[in-house]
Amino acid sequence: MARHQKPRVVIVGAGFGGLRVAKGLRGKGFEVVVIDQHNFHTFMPLLYQVATAALEPEQVVYPVRGIFDTRAIRFLLARVESVDLAAKTLLTTRGPIDYDYLVLAAGSVTNFFGQKDIEAVAHGLKDLWEAETLRNHVLTAFERASVEPDMAKRDALLTFTIVGGGPTGVELAGALSELIYDDLAEDYPYLDFNRVKVILLEASSSLLAAFDSSLREATLRRLGQMGVDVRLNAVVATATPEVVGLKDGTLIPSHTLIWAAGVRAATLAGQLGVPQARGGRVPVLPTLQLADAPDVFVIGDMAYFEQDGQALPQVAPVAIQQGDLVAANLERLARGETLERFVYKDKGSMATIGRSAAVAQVAGLKLTGFPAWAAWLGVHLVQLIGFRNRAMVLINWGYNYILGKRGVRLITTPDSAEATGRTQVSSITGLEQRELPASGREPSLVVDAR
Ligand SMILES: Cc1cc2nc3c(=O)[nH]c(=O)nc-3n(C[C@H](O)[C@H](O)[C@H](O)COP(=O)(O)OP(=O)(O)OC[C@H]3O[C@@H](n4cnc5c(N)ncnc54)[C@H](O)[C@@H]3O)c2cc1C
Repeated sequence: MARHQKPRVVIVGAGFGGLRVAKGLRGKGFEVVVIDQHNFHTFMPLLYQVATAALEPEQVVYPVRGIFDTRAIRFLLARVESVDLAAKTLLTTRGPIDYDYLVLAAGSVTNFFGQKDIEAVAHGLKDLWEAETLRNHVLTAFERASVEPDMAKRDALLTFTIVGGGPTGVELAGALSELIYDDLAEDYPYLDFNRVKVILLEASSSLLAAFDSSLREATLRRLGQMGVDVRLNAVVATATPEVVGLKDGTLIPSHTLIWAAGVRAATLAGQLGVPQARGGRVPVLPTLQLADAPDVFVIGDMAYFEQDGQALPQVAPVAIQQGDLVAANLERLARGETLERFVYKDKGSMATIGRSAAVAQVAGLKLTGFPAWAAWLGVHLVQLIGFRNRAMVLINWGYNYILGKRGVRLITTPDSAEATGRTQVSSITGLEQRELPASGREPSLVVDAR
C-alpha cells in the first residue's frame, strides 16, 4: 500500500532516461520527485565540442527546474549515496527520502578498468567540468609550448593522445585536429605545427566496431587526411603526466592523455546490494524491474539488459526508450495490471568526424561525407533541450562552418598565467632577446621567424 497521499515515484538522475520517466508520469496521479547531483541535464553527445572550444559549456546543459512544471514534478538537488531496498528509502546528501516506487537512472562513469596510474593522469569526458578542464588543458599546453625552449619537452606538450576508437574517441580526435590545425595554427604562428601530433589509440583492429566495415574504412581514411595518427591494436599499459606507455613497449612522450575507452555503471549501482553484471551494470527483468524488488526499476547506462543474446549498448536511445516504457509500466503496476516487456528499436548509429564529414547507418542506408554530417547535425539539434541552446548551438556551428573558426578558445582556470608555468620570457619560441643595433637601449623582445 502506498505510504503517501499519491504514490510517490522517486527518479534518481535527470539524464536521458530519468527525464523521460518524469515526463511520461506527468498528470498520471503520482507524486514525482526527481533527484540529481546537478541542477541541470547534460547533453553528453556534445561534450566533446565543449572540450574542443566549439561550444560554450552552458549550451550543452539545461536547468532541470526549467524543463518541468515544478508544481507538478518536484526536484531535489542532492547526491544519492545508497538505497535501502527493504525500507524503501534513499539516503541522500540532503537526508533520507522514502518512495513507493523507485527509478534508478544514474547513468555511468568513466571506466579505467582498475588502472590507477592511468586514472590519475588521464582526462575523462563524462561531465561539463571534465570537458572544460580538457579545453583548458589543451590550450594551456600550447601556451606552455610557446615558451618552452627544449624541443623534446615542447613536442611532448604538443602530443595529444586519445584512447578509444569508438564514437567518442573518433569525434574527439577529428574535432581536436580541426581546433589545432585550423585555429591554433593561426594563434601560434611561431610553433612548428608539423611537429604537433593527435594520436588515436584503439586496442582492437578497427575503429567504430559497431559500424559497417565500409564506414569504418571511410573513418580511418578521413582521420588520416585530417592529420590524426590512428594506431590500431595499440593497448595502453602505463601512463605518467609526461609519457604514455603501450603494452608492446612503445613509449609516447605526451602531456595529454584522454580516456574514451569505456564506461561502467554509476557508483550507486554498487550500493544496492544486488549482483552486478559486466561493467558494474545492474541486471533487470524484461519489464526493467529489479528481480527481488518489483517496485524498483533500473534503466539506461546503469541497467544490464540483453536482447538477441547481446547486451544493449550504453547509448541515449536505449535510456530514452526504457524511460518511456517505465513510465507506462508504473501506471500498469499502480493499477495492478500486467507489465510490458522492453524491446529496443535500434534506429541506427552515427558519428561525426569533422566539418562536412561523418558516417551514419540509418534504416539500411550507409551515409558518409556531407549527407551523414547534415543528418548528424539535424538529429543532435532536435534532441538538445531548450530553444535558446538550439539557437546558440546553430549560430556557433554556422560560424564554425562558414569561417572555419572556433570561438571559445578560452583558458578559464582561476589563474591561467600560473597554469602555464614559470619559463622565462626570454625563451618564448619565435621571440628572442636581441640587442637592437646601436640604439643603446635595453634588450627587448622582437619577433623572429622559426
Ligand atoms: C562524451 C559522450 C558522448 C556520447 N555521445 C553519444 C551519442 O552521440 N549518442 C548516444 O546515443 N549516446 C551518446 N553517449 C552516451 C549517452 O550519453 C548515455 O548513454 C546516456 O546519457 C545514458 O542516459 P542515462 O539516463 O542512463 O544517464 P545520464 O544521461 O548519464 O544521466 C545520469 C544522471 O544521473 C545523475 N547522477 C549520477 N549519480 C547520481 C547520484 N548518486 N545521485 C544523484 N544523481 C546522480 C547524473 O548527474 C546525471 O544527470 C555519449 C556519452 C558520452 C560520455
